[in-house]
Amino acid sequence: MTHRHRPWGYQQDSDGALPNWELHPDTQAIRAGLARSGFGETSEALYLSSGFTYDSAEQAVHSFTDEVDHFLYSRFANPTVAMFENRLAAIEGAEFCVGTGSGMSAMFASIACLVEAGDRVVASAAMFSSCYVVLSEFLPKWGVQVEFVRGNNPEDWQRALSQKTKAVFLETPTNPMLEVVDIAMVSEIAHQVGATVIVDNVMASPILQKPLQLGADVVMYSATKHIDGQGRVLGGAILGSFDYIQGSLNPFIRHTGPTLSAFNAWVLVKSLETLSLRVNRMNDNAAVVADFLTKQSRIKSVNYPGLPTHPDYEITRRQMIGGGTTISFDFNGDTDSLFKVMDKLQVIDISNNLGDSKSLITHPASTTHRRLDPELRAQMGITDSVVRLSVGLEHSSDLIKDLDQAIN
Ligand SMILES: *Cc1c(COP(=O)(O)O)cnc(C)c1O
Repeated sequence: MTHRHRPWGYQQDSDGALPNWELHPDTQAIRAGLARSGFGETSEALYLSSGFTYDSAEQAVHSFTDEVDHFLYSRFANPTVAMFENRLAAIEGAEFCVGTGSGMSAMFASIACLVEAGDRVVASAAMFSSCYVVLSEFLPKWGVQVEFVRGNNPEDWQRALSQKTKAVFLETPTNPMLEVVDIAMVSEIAHQVGATVIVDNVMASPILQKPLQLGADVVMYSATKHIDGQGRVLGGAILGSFDYIQGSLNPFIRHTGPTLSAFNAWVLVKSLETLSLRVNRMNDNAAVVADFLTKQSRIKSVNYPGLPTHPDYEITRRQMIGGGTTISFDFNGDTDSLFKVMDKLQVIDISNNLGDSKSLITHPASTTHRRLDPELRAQMGITDSVVRLSVGLEHSSDLIKDLDQAIN
């Protein structure tokens, strides 16, 4: 084998097989991280191995003391997982990436590795409900104080970040109401008090938004969403600097074990090759569908960051390419008639997943966000008449026909 292994974290060009000019991200998505075995296989190899052998007892010692690059155990690192991590780091433009078994394990590890009892965290209130549970229930139980602010309100951030804060957590655009948080604005305020800014970039994907370039310190993903994008496996990833990953995250991951499986990493590394094609097409489809929805009298309002009527349209234009792949809308009518519309759909599936090649529709108040306190749900705008539509890769003309026949 000609490539070098790194027991922890992976530099984007650690495998040395890339040319000496800086490759376009679309090329990186196909080439970065590729570490071929001695067989010259075209496709990335799947290393289904929990452990690794050593040529000698001495080599084992030197591997454990980091004097030799050698994989030790797949809870710490695995060659297939490393290919996924290297490739995603290259696409994101991050120094290091660590894969995890799900988006939630990525979210939890990204923040749990930083905080201790007595620390303070500030977060925007609108977010994926399990992330909200981690911040509002688990962290406080362990003595971490968490304050929630309105994500698109600069005064809230100024006030909350006027005292020492360990970490800031935000999701943008938010799921399911598609609010947009100004990443550069929050990062600037947060850095004045030394906070580490973590962005849940799931809804935008690395193709449409690059939080690290906007000033954030850490990005996390549910790879289950756009990165797989074909409804097959769960996965997650955390990206950040050498200091954050080596200093804080890796010790936590190594000993608590929220590891990404080699099989899932193999599915995901292949998915990265088509991520940009898929997300860009889904983004184009979503813009067409959002425009169609704004013209329907049975729809009260359409939330889509790519529409000029969206309250954060200007911020969206500054920090994202396009408006994203997800739309939510407020239906004119009661839950019964809304459910009838959903049931009439013939192409679009009813499912709570998102970022998939198949268009999926869900009623957040009764499914994904059911766990939230009704008052908080109302504050977030997730009323009983709101539906979320994740726009997939079908031809937009069929999506519009389908919505048209179901709504009208
Ligand atoms: C799905 C999702 C998660 C959690 O990811 P899993 O892979 O389901 O664990 C976190 N944040 C957002 C915004 C999500 O949509």
